[in-house]
Amino acid sequence: MHKFDVIVIGGGHAGCEAATSSARVGAKTLLITGSTKTIGAMSCNPAMGGIGKGHLIREIDALDGVMPKISDLSGIQFRVLNKRKGPAVQGPRAQIDRDLYLLYMQKEILNYKNLTVKEGLVEDLLFNKDRANGVKCRGGAKIKAKSIVLTTGTFLNGTIFCGKNTTPGGRIGEPPVTGISKRLRNVGLNLDRLKTGTPARLINNSINFKNLEIQKGDKNPELFSYMNSKVLNKQLNCHITRTTKETHQIIKSNLKSSAMFSGLISGIGPRYCPSIEDKVERFSEKESHQIFLEPEGLNSNLIYPNGISTSLPKNIQDSFLKTIPGLENVRVEKYGYAIEYDYVDPRELSHTLEVEKIPGLWLAGQINGTTGYEEAAAQGLVAGLNAARKSIDEDPHVFDRADGYIGVLIDDLVTKGVTEPYRMFTSRSEYRLSLRSDNADQRLTDIGVKLGLVGSKRKRFWIEKKKKMSLIRDTLKELKITPNKARNEGLKINLDGKTRTAYDLLGYHEIDFYNLEKIWPKIKSTDVAIKKTITAETTYGRYLTRQEREIENLRKEESKTLSTEINYNAIKGLSNEHKQKLTKIKPRTLGQAQRIDGITPSAIGLILSHIRNN
Ligand code: FAD
Repeated sequence: MHKFDVIVIGGGHAGCEAATSSARVGAKTLLITGSTKTIGAMSCNPAMGGIGKGHLIREIDALDGVMPKISDLSGIQFRVLNKRKGPAVQGPRAQIDRDLYLLYMQKEILNYKNLTVKEGLVEDLLFNKDRANGVKCRGGAKIKAKSIVLTTGTFLNGTIFCGKNTTPGGRIGEPPVTGISKRLRNVGLNLDRLKTGTPARLINNSINFKNLEIQKGDKNPELFSYMNSKVLNKQLNCHITRTTKETHQIIKSNLKSSAMFSGLISGIGPRYCPSIEDKVERFSEKESHQIFLEPEGLNSNLIYPNGISTSLPKNIQDSFLKTIPGLENVRVEKYGYAIEYDYVDPRELSHTLEVEKIPGLWLAGQINGTTGYEEAAAQGLVAGLNAARKSIDEDPHVFDRADGYIGVLIDDLVTKGVTEPYRMFTSRSEYRLSLRSDNADQRLTDIGVKLGLVGSKRKRFWIEKKKKMSLIRDTLKELKITPNKARNEGLKINLDGKTRTAYDLLGYHEIDFYNLEKIWPKIKSTDVAIKKTITAETTYGRYLTRQEREIENLRKEESKTLSTEINYNAIKGLSNEHKQKLTKIKPRTLGQAQRIDGITPSAIGLILSHIRNN
């Protein structure tokens, strides 16, 4: 007898989302984590969202996840990034009060229906033959469950580096976990090392902000959750400063004492979030790098200097910081450090995030080679969902690349693997125009309702929103105007004699809802979020229609299943590289085969004719 359907190990961003999605679909879920006090801890910057990452948070919201809601409760500055660019690449972002996030997340997790929380460190996994079926905690307690989700972040064999000092640790002040990596290796999984780093935390009142550029939040803030529109906390400003020539000189002459450059660290770090040592070395032509000084919270006396993560020794950190405008007299609360940890090659996983060699075990978050809270949470949601579905004998669910960035993320991971920490960008999607942050609910909430992921409050909200959207679409298509009249209203329209609908007019670059409201006041009361989505739809117009056709074709072709028994070595015409990659990855569908690095359309043609002939 199992006491629980699902056990989730780790209460970080992946773990919180995994435990709650599992609980939402009705599985009796246990979350075991090192300490309940670190549930929801933000190990690095006090911010959520951005381009790609903000898209992921909106998708989590569309599936009724917890991260967007908690971010809204603790947001202290909301901004939509890339506002001057098209709607597809705009991403919501917020500065977060670290303490409030912890507080609200812990309150949520400790009171979640179907979810029990236990403090403890899992030291090993239990098996019934080849199948994972429980955990062994420090102290010897054994707990069984039908499905296990592992979300241990940077804790597996974590080592912390600051200058020449190395300390075992999963995060500063927290011990690493060693037994689990050994077990996973013994079962034959491929594990490797990656690294990441964090900057020093600075004391607010030792900084001179006077001459620094101010960065304010948006005047009309957009929250993460579709169900929220009201900002709850006082909003704070960020400031911008830059490194100087002197900063670079100090860093260059001390590179050898950085753990990164002294050969102590072998793991590869995040390309898009490099340490300051890395930036100075790699972009030596640049005289200066931007630093955002981000407040850590409403009642915090700490500032997070975004852009200068480092593993240089403490005294060198002190010296280079003082060469930065505004930081001449800065005092440091905690010094920056780097951390190296084990991750599992995500090609070991299926699209449901279950480990192929270990049925009953799902992995999510940084353990799969990603970086970032949002990437972790998105995987957590999917792993928790599928672990729960399997435990209650339901079929797994796979999100595809056209459903959202969640699908892109998982498909990229399990198909291509990673060579450096993976973070999300809009450029990773071939369907950017349809996968916007404004329409994640249109893409995903109905799916979430079917899967039982979406609660009744959101379901009601979504049904109401859908009604309002279709009503305003119909209205806009009914309202018509001649070119002459439009010109008289100040709209720049060709005098070609063609009557246009309000919906057509919205598709013009220079025309927005505000212009139309002046002509037709009855549309003024439309919700801001709905205005945004309809404007994006009309802006992309025919491109979107073409993309929808492509998606339809993709789904037809994509879903063609490939047997894992196919002998690729026997397919004539495939190159050795193709044979090796296909044999190793064993793609489950034609779509997955198409996306393997180096697999060409002609190779796909050969596979297709092989299937037809057999
Ligand atoms: P985590 O949030 O780390 O959560 C892991 C959880 O598992 C913790 O609660 C831990 O207590 C628990 N746990 C671990 N082992 C066990 C066990 N055996 N038993 C029970 N509980 C266990 N991301 C960025 O996007 N940009 C950055 O610049 C960046 N810098 C970072 C710097 C540092 C120093 C660190 C540590 C992380 C950084 N990150 C950065 C990564 C970001 O913090 C993670 O991507 C994100 O938190 C991953 O979420 P997760 O849920 O996978 O793991």
